Amino acid sequence: MPKKVIVIGAGPAGLMAAERICAQGHQVHVYDAKASACRKFLLAGVGGMNITHSEPYDAFIQRYYDKADWLDRAVREFNAEALQDWIHGLGIETFVGSSGRVFPKDMKAAPLLRNWLKRLREMGVVFHMRHKMLSIEAKCARFSHESQEIIAEADAFVLAMGGASWPKLGSDGSWQLALAKHKVVIEPLKSANCGFYSPWSDFLKEKFAGSPLKGVSFRCTTTEGLVVSKKGECILTQDGMEGSLIYAFSKHLRDQVEKQGKAQLVIDLLPQLDHSQLVKKLSQRKAKESFSKYIKRTLNLGGVKVALLHEVTRPEDLSAPEKIASSLKNVVVHFDQVKAIEEVISSAGGVCEESVTEHLMLKNMPGVFCAGEMLDWEAPTGGYLLTACFATGVLAAQGVEQYLQS
Ligand SMILES: Cc1cc2nc3c(=O)[nH]c(=O)nc-3n(C[C@H](O)[C@H](O)[C@H](O)COP(=O)(O)OP(=O)(O)OC[C@H]3O[C@@H](n4cnc5c(N)ncnc54)[C@H](O)[C@@H]3O)c2cc1C
Repeated sequence: MPKKVIVIGAGPAGLMAAERICAQGHQVHVYDAKASACRKFLLAGVGGMNITHSEPYDAFIQRYYDKADWLDRAVREFNAEALQDWIHGLGIETFVGSSGRVFPKDMKAAPLLRNWLKRLREMGVVFHMRHKMLSIEAKCARFSHESQEIIAEADAFVLAMGGASWPKLGSDGSWQLALAKHKVVIEPLKSANCGFYSPWSDFLKEKFAGSPLKGVSFRCTTTEGLVVSKKGECILTQDGMEGSLIYAFSKHLRDQVEKQGKAQLVIDLLPQLDHSQLVKKLSQRKAKESFSKYIKRTLNLGGVKVALLHEVTRPEDLSAPEKIASSLKNVVVHFDQVKAIEEVISSAGGVCEESVTEHLMLKNMPGVFCAGEMLDWEAPTGGYLLTACFATGVLAAQGVEQYLQS
């Protein structure tokens, strides 16, 4: 007998759950607070949507940090290959970029979403937009819709209401109140893949805010004492740093700020040269040559890199080749604050592993499942976020099927 299932949240996780549950023969209704589906997914497509990553699975799953074991069940089954096959099934080609990241061929989210929504409607999924969930009980949810309150009943629910970044796109984390009432354990939502604040000098702000810091390597020590390093680039902003390399360190830096009140990052401005190569190049300083001319001539270094070096280095540590080489490889930057969750790419925290079964059903609310970014995991950019959202949508749908059969 087909049953009625309500999916709340028309993002990638919710729509994937809806598709799978509908394919099982059930009647699926999708509710969302916004007027249209997948607003954040569409925004992700603006700068080139990175849907997943082509690296080997063992490396891939470790991108979910301490939640790798928990997500393994979902991501192993609906892995990068399965996700690409699914996209191809929607008539969208993909390609692997030089970094191993996987993109739709046109880099956009809109054509994929258009084809997907068409398919969902043809399958019989019914959409109820502008319905904001206020509360949920066993077998019924309460929504606000155009100043009215609506009660909707179902045999099972999938909640996929996202994290709390970019709340104007629909995911504002308001579901936390509704679930806390049922004693669901929720790790507070916090910024992930985010920039950090550092109080730069007026000189650095005025002259170099907005400058890209290219070809550098970042190093930091995690709160567990591990040293992590990575090459890449980021942007020096008016009040700190933004960009892909700093985002890749955001979990570690955020943990440091939470634990110690500030975070420390070490920048190697010239990772392509080792210490002795630098000393050798720096060994011939001309008489009366200024520091900026000397460093430009010997290392072809200038602009924001030299400004940052001066910003954090004592003059006596720039007095001899040995010392300059060490300083170039150890530019220590401190951050005192994490960018606000409203401005960042994704959020960490959410419904904890201990609150759900292995198929993501809330232990305190039988028949209510969770999927996507509202679960307590995080990952760097690189397609890992969307992969886990889709994969947990698939796993929750399997759980719904089992639950409805029992
Ligand atoms: C600028 C930007 C770029 C990104 N780029 C990438 C990328 O390239 N690759 C990648 O992997 N990830 C990227 N992401 C992250 C990715 O978009 C998200 O991780 C993903 O969309 C989360 O999916 P979700 O279905 O869990 O939640 P969401 O996409 O947030 O969807 C949740 C839905 O639930 C609805 N909702 C929330 N609360 C309620 C309520 N109370 N009642 C009813 N409906 C509700 C919302 O309106 C929304 O439609 C990017 C994010 C941003 C902001």
